[in-house]
Amino acid sequence: MSDCIFCKIASHEIPSEIVYEDEKICVYKDLSPQAPVHVLMIPKKHIESLDDVTEEDQELLGYMLYKVHDIVKLMGIENGYRVVSNNGEDAFQTVKHMHLHILGGRKFGWPPG
Ligand code: AMP
Ligand code: ZN
Repeated sequence: MSDCIFCKIASHEIPSEIVYEDEKICVYKDLSPQAPVHVLMIPKKHIESLDDVTEEDQELLGYMLYKVHDIVKLMGIENGYRVVSNNGEDAFQTVKHMHLHILGGRKFGWPPG
């Protein structure tokens, strides 16, 4: 999508600290980190939120979760991590391109705020 900031990161139109990418996904450091390690994993395909996934996205979504532990290893996270996806207004999704936050390097509270 032409005016989507995350699509622009995935296509290298705007710079970001990409830590991993392949033909399906892109992973980069969050601009405003909420933990010692905080990266975002996006599908290169523009999908607005989990509300917008279709049957044909099942493999892509599975792939994203499958890759999480590789990213966790790559980023040197030990002792656990959190994966978060904010979807829609009540969850304060601010960028309308579906993404997974992968956070680690500190202890997290529960329930989340
Ligand atoms: P959410 O609020 O779940 O939609 O998360 C959006 C995340 O994107 C926030 O944590 C922002 O800090 C992050 N973010 C916004 N713009 C950029 C950018 N250009 N590069 C990296 N992270 C970004
Ligand atoms: Zn997009």
